[in-house]
Order: sequence, then C-alpha cells, then structure tokens
Amino acid sequence: MTTNPTLERIGVTPSPLALLLLGQGADPDSERGVDCPGALPAAADPRLAERAAAAKEALGGKVFVLGHHYQRDDVIAFADVTGDSFKLAQQAAARPEAEHIVFCGVHFMAESADILTAPHQQVILPDLAAGCSMADMATAEQVEQAWDDLLDAGAAEGTVPVTYMNSSAAIKAFTGRHDGTVCTSSNARRALEWAFGPERGGRRVLFLPDQHLGRNTAIGELGLTAADCVVYDPRRPNGGLTPAQLRDAKMILWRGHCSVHGRFTRECVDEVRARIPGVTVLVHPECKREVVTGADLVGSTEYIIKVVDEAPAGSSFAIGTELNLVQRLANRHPDKNIVFLDRTVCFCSTMNRIDMPHLVWALESLVRGEPVNRITVAPEVATYARKALDQMLALP
Ligand code: SF4
Repeated sequence: MTTNPTLERIGVTPSPLALLLLGQGADPDSERGVDCPGALPAAADPRLAERAAAAKEALGGKVFVLGHHYQRDDVIAFADVTGDSFKLAQQAAARPEAEHIVFCGVHFMAESADILTAPHQQVILPDLAAGCSMADMATAEQVEQAWDDLLDAGAAEGTVPVTYMNSSAAIKAFTGRHDGTVCTSSNARRALEWAFGPERGGRRVLFLPDQHLGRNTAIGELGLTAADCVVYDPRRPNGGLTPAQLRDAKMILWRGHCSVHGRFTRECVDEVRARIPGVTVLVHPECKREVVTGADLVGSTEYIIKVVDEAPAGSSFAIGTELNLVQRLANRHPDKNIVFLDRTVCFCSTMNRIDMPHLVWALESLVRGEPVNRITVAPEVATYARKALDQMLALP
C-alpha cells in the first residue's frame, strides 16, 4: 500500500483494508451493490477534475453541488457548499433557482433534500450505492412491528418517536404520523426536552435508529439514568423486552449504530492520552457511551470543526469521527497537532462511494440533458416526513 503523509501525520497506520466493510456484524444487506447504469469514466482518467469543472461551468447556476463533511477531498473541491446533513438540506431548499441538486453524501440525505426542495428541483445522488448502514438498521416494517409491540404492551400511548436525521424517509414519515420529530446531533437535547416537555407531554421516547446518540443525550444531557433506558432489538420477538420493560422505560433505544463511530473504544481514548500528554479528546455523540464519558468534548460534526478552527496554535486533539474530515482538519491546521482517535484506517465506505468518476458522470449527464440517479420520495411518504422535519425546525 502506498504511504499517505497525512495519514501518518494524524497517527493512522495504513492497512490493506482502507474501507470499513459496512454490514459486518450488522445488517448484511446494508451495502446494496447497485450497478452504475452508465458509461463511468475511468478512475485513472487524468482529466477528471478538468471534466468536472467544465461540466459545472456549462451548467452554471442550474446546478448546485452539496458536499458532506465526510466526502473525499477531490470531490469536496467541487462542492458549492459543505456541511452536515441538515445544513446541506437547508442549503438545497434555499436555492430554488438550481434545477439540479447534486448531493455528494448518502441516500438518506438526498431524500431529505428532495423532501425540502421545490417540485421543479431534481436531486441527484452520483452513486446509488452510497447508503448508510445506520439508516438501514431501521426498516419501515421493523418500526411498524415495534409500534405494534408497544400497542400490545399498553405503552404506545405516551410514547413519542424521535428519529435521527440519519434515517430513511419512511422512518421520518412514521415519526411524523405519530406526532414526533426529527433531530440532528446538534439539537438532540432540545428534541428530547420537547418530547418530554409540557408541549408534547411524552412519558417515554422511542429513539431511532442510533442507540448511542439517544443514550448519550438522555444520560449525558438530560440527566436520565442507564436504568431509564432499554434497547429494542428488531431482530428479537418483542424487541427482546417484556411488556413491563417497555412500559417502564423513559427511553426505548433502537438497536442501531454507526459502523464508523462504533469502532472507537475506551482503549483508544486511554491509549491516546498515554501517548500524547495534554491531548483534548473530541468525539461525535454517535460514539459508544464509554468513549463519550472518556472524552473531553463531545459534539456534532459542525461543533468539532468549530472547536478545532478556534483553538490556538499548538493545541493537540485526538478526534473520533470520520477519517476524511479528520484528515482535512489536519491539513487545514498544520500548526495544531491533530490525530485520529483510532490507530487504524476507518473511512465510511458508503460516503466514499461518491468519487470523481461518479461525480463527472452525474454532471456530464446533466449537461447532455439526461439526468441520472434522481432521488424521489413518494408524496404520501414525503408529506409525513416533512411534518417531522418541520417539527424539528420549530423546536425551541
Ligand atoms: S458515517 Fe456512519 S452514520 Fe454517517 S453515513 Fe457513514 S455509516 Fe452512516
């Protein structure tokens, strides 16, 4: 394997397996393996950047390219705006003049963009295989079954669904139908306070699909206890819980997780503290509880970027989030000591499916007037998903 100076600088050991194979130990169907139906440019084509630039120029203001923070650098270079999933969906909605939104991110993000944009705007995902293993861990059928289990247990009344942005449009629609809300890693606390507060008056929350964000917010920010939380496993009858456990819980956490952030361990935290005295450990709330409690700071992707950007020269950080972003922060701040929290390579493999050949293919197809990989959400799903998204926007 070729050496990568940035990876070496951020303390990562190159390995033959650069991408985490999502689905391992989780949902074996999570990587869908969608064939690209077009003539994809060769990855070795030296003119890929030139072709992307030419296509963007030809399209002018008709195209708006969104780039999630976890995308590769060569793709990010063509983004008109970068951000987390929610910021990108908002940005898309704020550009009604753009007929084509090319979303360099993953499938659930493109769905949210389609829901929030006007009917005349087309949302394009350059590679349809860019899914998300976490979003795939909660299917509509499984969540409907869970609600039936709650009904049978006499626990549905008083339960408020709260779904993380990282979920399919169908799960957001389920949430909207049951008067719940979407949340992001930035506003999860406010979403839970709303759900339990006087306005909504919930006795318990069904938190989908990331158990770690739900647990970290409930215990770390709302002061609930581990005993207040149960984990609903969709692969077990009744979620592996008794009716009394469902009724008594304040937080019913869906058994889902991010395969990337789930890799960080408490040993990673202890090891980096021993290796770099005075290091600030900065992690995303999708990490396990023991990683978050061992960290100095926890927050969303936008928060992580802000903390590092604003830190004085000479600061040391060990960051527990997706590797493309950590590499980019290290390159942007050569005066700061930035290392990846894990010692091994761990990119999000589905985010990395959006590469230059797919971006060029998507843009050149638009220039020819033949859009590819359009993401559309059925109207009946979009209506209720929008209701849950609007509830999030209305959070105090
Ligand atoms: S980093 Fe995790 S949550 Fe984000 S797209 Fe990849 S698998 Fe999904």
